[in-house]
Amino acid sequence: MEWVNASLPAKKTIALVAHDNRKQDLLRWAEKHQVKLSKHHLCATGTTGKLLGKALNIDIESYLSGPLGGDQQIGSHIAEGKIHCLIFFWDPFEPMPHDPDVKALLRLAAVWNIPVACNSSSADLMLASELFDEPVERLIPDYAAYLAKR
Ligand code: PGA
Repeated sequence: MEWVNASLPAKKTIALVAHDNRKQDLLRWAEKHQVKLSKHHLCATGTTGKLLGKALNIDIESYLSGPLGGDQQIGSHIAEGKIHCLIFFWDPFEPMPHDPDVKALLRLAAVWNIPVACNSSSADLMLASELFDEPVERLIPDYAAYLAKR
């Protein structure tokens, strides 16, 4: 794979997703960081977005619920460069009916080299970065070079 530079913008689109047993944890985390989060664009899977919308005074774009395709919607936006950060509190204790979608979402976040946090301490560190509100350089797969070779 060849790689090419593509920076993340200063104002980021941040996707928030939490499995049912992790939703309270995500809500607590988001309330704690409400001011910082409000400077960015937020989106979420359906149920997570509904709960965050009630708890925070911030607009949140909601996709379908995760098990109904919401994880895949977020994954496709990551591949299109429209989502720049993923906060995904997945449940390490329960098997999920949509486990393939969970894996696919994490895989696409790795492919497109966006920052990912899967628990509150990683998410705390991510937001504490001085780069969080700045443009950030990153390498992404060079799709033009990829196609040229096929
Ligand atoms: P939900 O989806 O926010 O609709 O519960 C989360 C998930 O299970 O991926």
